[in-house]
Amino acid sequence: MIPFIDLKAQYNRIAGPVEAAVLDVMRSGTFILGPVVQQLEERLAAFAGTRHCVSCASGTDALVMALMAKGIGPGDAVFTVPFTFMASAEAIVTVGATPIFVDIEPGSFNLDPAALERAVAALAAGDTESHVLPRWPVDRLKALRPRGIIAVDLFGLPADYTALNAMAARHDLFVIEDAAQSFGATAQNKRAGSLAEIGCTSFFPAKPLGCFGDGGAIFCDDPELDKLLRSIRVHGQGGHKYENVRMGITGRLDAVQAAVLNVKLDIFEDEIAARQRVAARYDAQIVATGLPLITPPIPQGVISAWAQYTLVAESPDARTAYQARLAEHGVPTMVYYPKGLHEQLAFADLGYARGDFPVTEAMGDRVFSLPMHPYLDDATIDSIVASL
Ligand SMILES: *Cc1c(COP(=O)(O)O)cnc(C)c1O
Repeated sequence: MIPFIDLKAQYNRIAGPVEAAVLDVMRSGTFILGPVVQQLEERLAAFAGTRHCVSCASGTDALVMALMAKGIGPGDAVFTVPFTFMASAEAIVTVGATPIFVDIEPGSFNLDPAALERAVAALAAGDTESHVLPRWPVDRLKALRPRGIIAVDLFGLPADYTALNAMAARHDLFVIEDAAQSFGATAQNKRAGSLAEIGCTSFFPAKPLGCFGDGGAIFCDDPELDKLLRSIRVHGQGGHKYENVRMGITGRLDAVQAAVLNVKLDIFEDEIAARQRVAARYDAQIVATGLPLITPPIPQGVISAWAQYTLVAESPDARTAYQARLAEHGVPTMVYYPKGLHEQLAFADLGYARGDFPVTEAMGDRVFSLPMHPYLDDATIDSIVASL
């Protein structure tokens, strides 16, 4: 069986330095935050090109902490996509606010700026005709305060922040970049994580830059935000350890994870380059088959982090057939995401229904992802494509 993501191949490459770095932490007796974490934060900020990086316990905590730092809570509305991992919208509900879903564009799988413009206007007017909104009484809808946008860089491809940041400025909204899948990507010579006011990423092992457990980070340029985030990370800590000046969480990164990430960061550029090679070979080989599959289009000036290599089949039945053929040949595939968040029971209170987000639903029925990691060799790629 071909691995979907080959973490063992990566481990073999870095086993010596990573084991030494973890051993150093164990011998140091400093396990939470501390100098290794601080070193990582400095390196991550330099990599992303932001003034500040605040590491934290997961990508989900990164989103929650970012929303807390922006003062988001009950009565606030935050726009996001339904075609994403649970955490993008869950974080909004965690702080007591209301997610307003906006559909994606079919090519990029990312937030559609034109649909967002309609949703912002519709919410302000309580007008459910021009854009679908939670099925709440108009009074309750109009009482919501639109505050911000969480845009998701799905499968490693940054969303269109040129359009989104401009729109957000016009409507006095903040933008949070959910870069959980895109760390390592570049758009217009800027790194993912730095493309909006706040960038959030995840170091879950399967992400482009993963640790050996849970971890995450938040990026920003504003020193006040940086200070707020550091306080929120440790229970709203004030000037000293047992002074609490606001509500916070237990959001710290531990030193073992930071030690692992420090080693993996050394080879990250090389791995991102390897992912470009894998994606380019997939593209070329799949096009050469003449199959009616849509390969992932990458806009000019953008480099994806290729968290996933995702194809669109011509129909739901065709997808089932492709997946079955690949499975017969020992090739694992995954569907991200079979069900839009608007159809998940967890968001039932919003009253959304099937049919509300046609692009999300069509993609959920037709997409499938192939094995993708930096250690896929050409022969394996070719054999995967031959199994389609
Ligand atoms: C993985 C992921 C997260 C959450 O990250 P965790 O570290 O698992 O909490 C958030 N958003 C997206 C888009 C993700 O893929």
